[in-house]
Amino acid sequence: MARAKKVDRAPQEIVSYNPATGEALGSVGVYSTEDVREAVQRARDAQRAWAAFSFRARKERLLRLRQVIIDHTDDLCERISKENGKTLQEALMSEVLPTVDLLTYFAKRAEKILSPQKISLHLFKQRGSYIHFVPRGVIGIISPWNFPFAIPMGESIMAFLSGNAVVLKPSEVTPLIAVHAKELFEKAGMPKDLFQVITGEGATGQALIDSGIDMMFFTGSVPTGKRVAEACGARLIPCVTELGGKAPAVVCPDADLERTASALTWGGFANSGQVCASVERVYAPESIHDELLEMVVEKTKALRQGNPNSFNTDVGAICLSRQIDVARDLIDDAVEQGAKIRTGGSRKEGDGMFFQPTVLEGVTQDMRIVHEEIFGPVLPFVKVKDVNEALRHANDSHLGLTAYVFTKDRSRGREIAEQIESGTVMVNDVMATYGMPETPWQGVKDSGVGFVHTDDGLRNMCQSRHVHYDRIISLKKEPWWYPYSESRFSMLKKFMKLLFRRP
Ligand code: NDP
Repeated sequence: MARAKKVDRAPQEIVSYNPATGEALGSVGVYSTEDVREAVQRARDAQRAWAAFSFRARKERLLRLRQVIIDHTDDLCERISKENGKTLQEALMSEVLPTVDLLTYFAKRAEKILSPQKISLHLFKQRGSYIHFVPRGVIGIISPWNFPFAIPMGESIMAFLSGNAVVLKPSEVTPLIAVHAKELFEKAGMPKDLFQVITGEGATGQALIDSGIDMMFFTGSVPTGKRVAEACGARLIPCVTELGGKAPAVVCPDADLERTASALTWGGFANSGQVCASVERVYAPESIHDELLEMVVEKTKALRQGNPNSFNTDVGAICLSRQIDVARDLIDDAVEQGAKIRTGGSRKEGDGMFFQPTVLEGVTQDMRIVHEEIFGPVLPFVKVKDVNEALRHANDSHLGLTAYVFTKDRSRGREIAEQIESGTVMVNDVMATYGMPETPWQGVKDSGVGFVHTDDGLRNMCQSRHVHYDRIISLKKEPWWYPYSESRFSMLKKFMKLLFRRP
């Protein structure tokens, strides 16, 4: 029987296991508070030299890193698959390829995006203003186990291109990928100390926040995110939090059911449902509910679950044993209250941590399973009267990361999308925008504060500093400077009335 993927509690060492086989893959050390401080100092020293590099030089170095990643694609996919449990194709399509694409997008554009931005002043025409962007310094990243490469590397690449150093605390569940990413970074000839990987548990993450970093990017659960944001707030460190999701799918009666069923099946079970953007609840109107459900059940039964390191596997392993307990508990609760398991429903027999892709019928809005994040391969179907009821239910959540709408009427799809309280709503598609670096990845409600990706996301990795200057020779003094007097007051008032006389 495979060993549960869990952390070895030996104080100085974390052992990482393959969740599909239980095999120990390797171990890493636990960084102490002092180790973390030293790592941050090394990064800070390296950042000073890096910030002086031209954009062109930074771009060239990063493009070398891109080549190294591309050259190591097979090995990298295998490592990700082994440590995380996702399939090889998922490792390629959701980890390696999006990272390479993000790197390319920002490497080509960083100089332009970060060039000074003129502000045109509507009133003070004799003066000028612009914003220029200065690297913040050392960016701290705390990342989860479900995308051990794409999340920290995407954020790191943006940080490097904008002139920063990075100190990364990866999840204790998948630390080896982060350590390997650092090896690739060094292979590419990047300045060695610019990227620090500090392995450890929550205490190491807390030490990172306390270590004098200049910004924090945290991705993880809502409770930890709140603690991290609080700690950053106390130190006045800007903090972006990317937290949990509970994505609803609102299916309209006119939806293309074949595409919708395939999208829901993939959106519910890719990465074994361990995606913050996974479809976690389906709202289908009575008129199409049964047909759609049958199609999804059929497609789910056809999925091949097993060895993630095989090209012919669709659904891989569960990375963290806790997620099996969460799925089991929520399914049991739903079934007790009348839901029916149409397929799946249990842990797969045999070695490794696998949970069968599960479709639930007869779920209602008052069940825990439509409110609590499952983070496992479970797709609950809720039958609704119409789209309005679906919309009400979709918004009845404390989370708001992603949501999905299915309809053939594109403009109606956008209309519905705008009514859903979610950082991103996709029409006739699921999950994919994380791989589009031009678009923001962001949550509303408890799903987080701030965003990653986008041109503004790159600017956000810098301090935006404002310079205000005189464009023409200035007066000896401005009329609102000293001395004050009644006549000056009335002159300024007349001026105001003159300026704003028209509506
Ligand atoms: P956790 O919140 O458990 O952990 C996230 C990271 O925080 C880990 O590196 C963890 O370290 C670290 N950490 C734990 N405690 C502290 C602390 N007190 N101070 C600082 N750091 C700490 O989340 P999971 O790793 O379980 O990730 C799953 C969650 O992440 C899900 O809720 C999912 O929805 C969300 N997520 C959100 C995404 C988004 O973009 N919005 C994307 C991906 C996931 P350690 O592992 O060593 O305990």
